[in-house]
Amino acid sequence: MQPDLRRGCRPLTTFESLATSRTLQKKHITTFYNLLQAQDNEQIPTYTKAWENDLGITLTQSEWGKIFTNISKSSINTTIQESNYKRISRWHLAPTRSYRFSPNTSRVCWRCTTEIGSPGHLWWTCIIIQNYWEKICSLINIITGYELPTSPETLVFMLYPSPLAKSTRVLINHMLTAANGLIPTKWKQSNPPTIREWLAKVEAIRQMEELSHSLNGTYDKYVFAWSPWDKFIKDYKPDNMSTPT
Ligand SMILES: [Zn+2]
Repeated sequence: MQPDLRRGCRPLTTFESLATSRTLQKKHITTFYNLLQAQDNEQIPTYTKAWENDLGITLTQSEWGKIFTNISKSSINTTIQESNYKRISRWHLAPTRSYRFSPNTSRVCWRCTTEIGSPGHLWWTCIIIQNYWEKICSLINIITGYELPTSPETLVFMLYPSPLAKSTRVLINHMLTAANGLIPTKWKQSNPPTIREWLAKVEAIRQMEELSHSLNGTYDKYVFAWSPWDKFIKDYKPDNMSTPT
């Protein structure tokens, strides 16, 4: 049975009106085609502006486009993609949002207990999470030889300032996905994720990627992208003072 979209709480878009129309009009296909073409010029989601206000940054529509494209290609594994989409869309409940629903709750960050706990603060500006990001950057530099800018655009949104070799970008995407993906696992806890947890998370992603590429017949791509990680993890000693723990 066809759903009746007119019962929804918003007016139908032109596309929906045409799609649910019971009669075909002249140049119906052309109209559909033009509407689909127009999708490219649609406004980017409103949460992108919320991030910009929150973090005090400005990104162009093109840069947001690069962020969404990169995330859509960040992994052939949908659970990994999902964790990136949840972060970008501000899915996780920060104190500032829960305070709007329940004014008897605190708006303050549960880690530093001094600053307002907005999503931007929890993912980036909190002094405690900054320390975590410094260690992650240091390790990514050791593994790939690439010095990541310490900015939310790069570390939280995975927007890289200069062209990167594709295999390096793929590996950095996975390592940043792991770093960001661990933050919600410590939601409402005073301590940030540890490097030991990060290493385990990247290794778990590596295993999933190995399996997925193996099944998809693209094992050579997996080997090429992950070889710096394999070399690092083979030589890594947790008590080595030259690497963060
Ligand atoms: Zn804080």
